[in-house]
Amino acid sequence: MLNIALFGPPGSGKGTQSKKIIEKYNLAYISTGDMLRAEIAEGSDLGKRVKSVMDAGELVSDELVVQILEKKIKNLVGANGILFDGFPRNLVQAYILTGLLAKLNTELTAMISLEVPEEELMQRMLKRAELEGRSDDKPETIKNRFRQYESKTRPVSGFYREMNKCYPVNGVGTVEEIFQRVCGVIDGLK
Ligand code: ADP
Repeated sequence: MLNIALFGPPGSGKGTQSKKIIEKYNLAYISTGDMLRAEIAEGSDLGKRVKSVMDAGELVSDELVVQILEKKIKNLVGANGILFDGFPRNLVQAYILTGLLAKLNTELTAMISLEVPEEELMQRMLKRAELEGRSDDKPETIKNRFRQYESKTRPVSGFYREMNKCYPVNGVGTVEEIFQRVCGVIDGLK
């Protein structure tokens, strides 16, 4: 299996690139952010709790993320590979991912990290706030999401770097230019 975790700060373009990657390489797609938003849309008690955490720009608890993820990953036996978007987001989740993939008799092939300078990220996020109106794209929440990223998520790249599985990609340019860089990395893996 070709299993890739797409990594990068909020606004780095993970969602946009994910769509192109899964299409080209025929991968199953797991976005924990989308899965959590689906939970909110259902309006369950759980969804309400998730919404308040997300709107504050905090990370949702690992137990909850794993619970939702486990249901989905079980159905992926026999898939060509999986693209993870927004997961793992801290070191505990990185260890959990190793275990989940081991149950499928596979492992993470690579972590691809989209590198974008912070000034550009903030501009992209504020623009997205205008266009999409996502409730966690308010300036205060965005700042907290960056803080969470720096303290909890960034260390995940060191974890995969030590395993020689971390591939940084310049995330500045047109969508197509960045996609070509990502494809260059993926094609080099095989
Ligand atoms: P972005 O990467 O642009 O911040 P996401 O849609 O990936 O957007 O995530 C939005 C929010 O969903 C996060 O700020 C967090 O509250 C929650 N979330 C998503 N994935 C995870 C995860 N793996 N663990 C904990 N919380 C998560």
